[in-house]
Amino acid sequence: NSSLHELDPDVAAAVDAELHRQQSTLEMIASENFAPVAVMEAQGSVLTNKYAEGYPGRRYYGGCEHVDVVEKIAIERIKALFGAEAANVQPHSGAQANAAAMFALLKPGDTILGLNLAHGGHLTHGMKINFSGKLYNVVAYHVDEKTNLVDMEEVERLAKEHRPKLIVAGWSAYPRQLDFAAFRRIADEVGAYLMVDMAHFAGLVAAGLHPSPVPHAHVVTTTTHKTLGGPRGGVILSTQELAKKINSAVFPGQQGGPLEHVIAAKAVSFKVAASDDFKERQQRTLEGARILAERLIQPDVTEAGVSVLSGGTDVHLVLVDLRNSELDGQQAEDRLHEVGITVNRNAIPNDPRPPMVTSGLRIGTPALATRGFQTEDFREVADIIAETLKPSYDTESLKARVSALAEKHPLYPSL
Ligand code: PLP
Repeated sequence: NSSLHELDPDVAAAVDAELHRQQSTLEMIASENFAPVAVMEAQGSVLTNKYAEGYPGRRYYGGCEHVDVVEKIAIERIKALFGAEAANVQPHSGAQANAAAMFALLKPGDTILGLNLAHGGHLTHGMKINFSGKLYNVVAYHVDEKTNLVDMEEVERLAKEHRPKLIVAGWSAYPRQLDFAAFRRIADEVGAYLMVDMAHFAGLVAAGLHPSPVPHAHVVTTTTHKTLGGPRGGVILSTQELAKKINSAVFPGQQGGPLEHVIAAKAVSFKVAASDDFKERQQRTLEGARILAERLIQPDVTEAGVSVLSGGTDVHLVLVDLRNSELDGQQAEDRLHEVGITVNRNAIPNDPRPPMVTSGLRIGTPALATRGFQTEDFREVADIIAETLKPSYDTESLKARVSALAEKHPLYPSL
């Protein structure tokens, strides 16, 4: 029973280096966050050893009495958090949650209507070489060319024309809120199920700072590691009526044994997500994103061809439009990396550049809010980003400003 450092110094060194990277740089990938130490403790526990195919009280293995307790706690907590009738906490990831939800509601060849990938949708919402694009007949809706907002008239028109069995609302890169009631009305008109994938904004919903899709959708899927701030994983919420179908689509439909150590970590994170501290953190997340959007539409930045899609944000991320900038998405990502800020380049709607290069950046604030960043810190980060994206910039002074912020808010000091 050697420690990781004794048994495997090579892996231990890489883990240590990753901890140092997280501590010394500013994490602004919109889908990332920092899980609390208690969450990681649960995930690193002996529950990793346990097979528990099935569901609490109905397992295919002996010795499940303790993992049953854990899984029931996770289910009850997330139902209470979102006011859902039923929850399945077993999906290993967001993609698997979506696969299982679709498996429960659809047959191969059925039509689904989802947001186009280049317009902010996710791979699992119908991308050609994803399971969703291969198994189902995909029709995609888009954002409006002028407003960059989801074009609900197009959603309605396509729904009436193609009569999908499932409409997917949700996104990976979109800076505004969706109208879930309008999606449900359209779904009802054409006899479709409505599935909302709230992976990105689930933390905001939990905090009451974003409308909840739960009252409107037949099924709501989410990841647990983005704004929700827990371990990597997925969850499916549904009506009681659909619960049995969803459960059997997850197991045995899609997965074998559940990851009970991850489910324990999910349970801990749901407890955190119900707290006042969590709500306050989500408020700072939103405020940080607003501060960033406001900074990036100031004249000194727009002169350099940088702008913000839709002119601002209502959520935890900002989409930067570089179509008129000398920098493409790759160059802008690399330049921010050079000064110690991690973001990802992102295709923007009707992007003239290829997908590996792109003309956009997706910049999010959840991880920094978790790290304790306050209004003045977000102002400083926004200014550093603005300066870095201008034609002339001073790497060394920007790096020093990043380091000062990282030192001001120590991450995982006990590790
Ligand atoms: N759904 C949405 C909207 C996402 O943005 C993502 C991840 O980026 C997923 C699902 C997939 O989650 P995972 O990476 O855990 O499979």
